[in-house]
Amino acid sequence: MTHDAIILGAGAAGLMCAATAGQRGRRVLLLDHAPEVGRKILISGGGRCNFTNLGTVPDRFISQNAHFAKSALSRYTPHDFLALVERHGIAWHEKTLGQLFCDGSARQIVAMLLDECARGGVDIRCNAQIGEVAHADGLFRVGAASAPALVIATGGPSIPKMGATGFAYELARRFGLKVVQPRPALVPLTLAGEDLLFRELSGVSSDVIARCGKAAFREAALFTHRGLSGPAILQVSSYWQHGTPIDVQFLPDRAPGWLLAAKAAHPRAGMRRMLRDGLPERLADVLCERLAIDSELGATTDRKLAAAEAQLAAWRFTPNGSEGYAKAEVTAGGIATTELSSKDMQSRRVPGLYAIGEAVDVTGWLGGYNFQWAWASGWAAALAI
Ligand SMILES: Cc1cc2nc3c(=O)[nH]c(=O)nc-3n(C[C@H](O)[C@H](O)[C@H](O)COP(=O)(O)OP(=O)(O)OC[C@H]3O[C@@H](n4cnc5c(N)ncnc54)[C@H](O)[C@@H]3O)c2cc1C
Repeated sequence: MTHDAIILGAGAAGLMCAATAGQRGRRVLLLDHAPEVGRKILISGGGRCNFTNLGTVPDRFISQNAHFAKSALSRYTPHDFLALVERHGIAWHEKTLGQLFCDGSARQIVAMLLDECARGGVDIRCNAQIGEVAHADGLFRVGAASAPALVIATGGPSIPKMGATGFAYELARRFGLKVVQPRPALVPLTLAGEDLLFRELSGVSSDVIARCGKAAFREAALFTHRGLSGPAILQVSSYWQHGTPIDVQFLPDRAPGWLLAAKAAHPRAGMRRMLRDGLPERLADVLCERLAIDSELGATTDRKLAAAEAQLAAWRFTPNGSEGYAKAEVTAGGIATTELSSKDMQSRRVPGLYAIGEAVDVTGWLGGYNFQWAWASGWAAALAI
């Protein structure tokens, strides 16, 4: 054998796994078909990489097995990654909701991981086309290389123009592993029919609570020329299924009964003024037209006002789709967690085969959770190989 482990994919998870295993004395080969490593890290967080989230808890990850991620996440925490960032002298800041970003550039995170790989003597080869992967006599063979451990770290198919592929699923299936139907997640949703009228609001954003089933997120929603985006919508998109609605609560700080209270306090005011008070003007005007209340509040029945308030608190949109893998920040679904040990990410069917990162059916919320999963799962596998 030429190596102790071959890792396919030099993204977040593959780099972390390679560096950690290399520093444990393993001879690691890290292969990627892209011309450079960590391309998604480079474009992440608007170029500043939201590298982890201090609020990391297992229920902020979506998976068919909600318990699967617990073990790895508890053994490699956001503070562990932060300690690494600090050891490399990378300045960082907390933006909002526990999200940690580089002050400078995402390039610093890639440079840090490359430095860690160099310390572990990792053999990194970019522009590597991975052809046949053979498995016999306890060894995996990729081209001329062979090793008793093979780690699938090629991520999911989101953003194909960055070199993302569904290769992880193909390879997993070839080894007989089940794959949970992949789907675009953290993705803008598209609107059709009557909702198309909201297109005229393209570029307008507002603080809302977006709900999909039991999931609810309070953040900004953004109207786009195709539908809805912004953090609140991206978050619910990961829970959204075709044909189901999402509910958007406008004016989330208004207490129940606020419109009736407004009627009592300002009977001569109109609906438009009430809405413009807490919403961007263009949004207020479109909602006002939809609510079709032209009279002053004092001349509007309580029933009509209560109905308008209820509608504003749960404005129903039924997206006709999403913007797909071309715009999805991650891919939900992937290699089934039932196939893997939650302790070290090793296949239960094929000893020596591992899967880590986004390739696995574990999908984090927006806000640094997906990188934390990549670091933690990569670390867990590295301790076993
Ligand atoms: C625009 C954008 C912004 C994001 N921002 C954030 C953020 O700020 N915070 C956060 O937590 N998450 C963010 N994410 C999500 C995060 O980038 C991914 O979840 C994370 O990179 C997954 O790590 P991974 O190692 O599993 O996969 P990747 O980082 O995608 O790495 C997979 C690697 O495998 C290689 N590969 C793929 N197919 C093949 C093949 N057939 N042969 C050889 N090599 C192959 C790829 O070139 C790539 O280098 C963002 C994603 C996008 C698209």
